[in-house]
Amino acid sequence: MAYPLSPATLEWQRKARQYAEQELIPYEEYAELHEGVVPPDIAARHKARAIELGLSRMDAPLAHGGLALPKLDQVVVWEQLGRVTNALCWSASEAHAWMFEACTPQQIERYVKPLMTGARCECYAITEAEAGSDPGAMTTTARLEAGQYVINGEKWFVTSANKADFLFLQAVVTGEAGERQHALFFVDMDAAGIVMADNPLFGHTFSAHHPTYRFNNVRIPAANRIGAAGDGMSYTRSWFRRERLMIAARCCGAAARLIDMAAEFAKARVVSGQPIAEYQLIQAMLADSLTELWGARLMTYEAAAMDDRGENLSVVHTHCSMAKLTASEMANRVADRVVQIFGGRGYMRKNAAQRFYRELRVDRIWEGTSEIQRLIVARSLLKRGVDGLIG
Ligand SMILES: Cc1cc2nc3c(=O)[nH]c(=O)nc-3n(C[C@H](O)[C@H](O)[C@H](O)COP(=O)(O)OP(=O)(O)OC[C@H]3O[C@@H](n4cnc5c(N)ncnc54)[C@H](O)[C@@H]3O)c2cc1C
Repeated sequence: MAYPLSPATLEWQRKARQYAEQELIPYEEYAELHEGVVPPDIAARHKARAIELGLSRMDAPLAHGGLALPKLDQVVVWEQLGRVTNALCWSASEAHAWMFEACTPQQIERYVKPLMTGARCECYAITEAEAGSDPGAMTTTARLEAGQYVINGEKWFVTSANKADFLFLQAVVTGEAGERQHALFFVDMDAAGIVMADNPLFGHTFSAHHPTYRFNNVRIPAANRIGAAGDGMSYTRSWFRRERLMIAARCCGAAARLIDMAAEFAKARVVSGQPIAEYQLIQAMLADSLTELWGARLMTYEAAAMDDRGENLSVVHTHCSMAKLTASEMANRVADRVVQIFGGRGYMRKNAAQRFYRELRVDRIWEGTSEIQRLIVARSLLKRGVDGLIG
């Protein structure tokens, strides 16, 4: 018996699966051979279709033209999109519910709603050379001066910056009450004083890059601060909660496709007179993979359902960490086994198993490493006890 999903949720699952299989997956190999980039007309079609399906406004409130879907529905959608390699599923930006709570009406019109229509693209700049796992060590400053903030600092790993036209940037506020507190800002990419310092290559083949940016006396209107000075970390926590849950979902989708691929291959591949599916060492790899996927998927769905039930936010936060930790580590083990089952064919870049093997690795690092997720879970456990977390 599968996890009980409503007819509406199953319909979202079907639509997302169809989009992944019919629109995106056919272009994976092309993307792999062309630095992650598909032809412009194809990229435009992928984006238009994502927006038409509603994928850019799943989390946005109804009052602003969003769909306000339950988190469980969103997880089910992102799980299906996780079946796709080369980040082709990042075909459109998404407006998140917390943005509508945090932003002024002017900010919503200028920055947030255009994410839903596809008119604008965002990126998120928190990490610095000396502030990755510990954002408290951040040194980028925003100094209030004559009605403007002046930004100085350097941000690393700014995913999708090459496609974005504005940043959510976190900085330490100076020069007003709230001194040394963290705040979040909208910064337009074309603001004077922003310089790309580096654009390193990474283990995956994505069209979205992760460059390093320097901010040299970048002046932005004071009205670009999101919420109060001091609210920066709490918005970033909202971002993390959602991203961790959706990473967990994508990892489950990737693992499901990998296991299907491996099972099909094992039934067809004959070695020493027998399909390798008959060999118990191969069966063990398949069985472990499915069992671990099932556990990770249940945790991910349940974390989403807890959020939908409005359970204590700190407890939900912990469950999102547990889901991300479990699902990302599970998917990496599954990818490793599936490459092994394919043998030499699993090392070819045209094989999705090889691409997942490289691509899934970062899911144990970004949006908080596995070690940081463990720290979050342990601290929450020490505060709330087992009963307080899992009943
Ligand atoms: C491809 C990619 C895209 C990214 N995109 C973005 C983005 O869009 N925006 C953004 O802001 N950031 C982004 N990041 C940054 C990412 O979130 C950080 O890399 C991550 O948080 C880890 O920080 P770090 O790399 O500085 O590692 P460090 O903090 O230097 O950690 C190094 C090692 O020490 C471990 N460690 C650290 N502290 C502890 C501790 N207390 N206990 C035990 N172990 C510990 C870590 O787990 C890790 O294994 C991206 C990173 C990558 C690789």
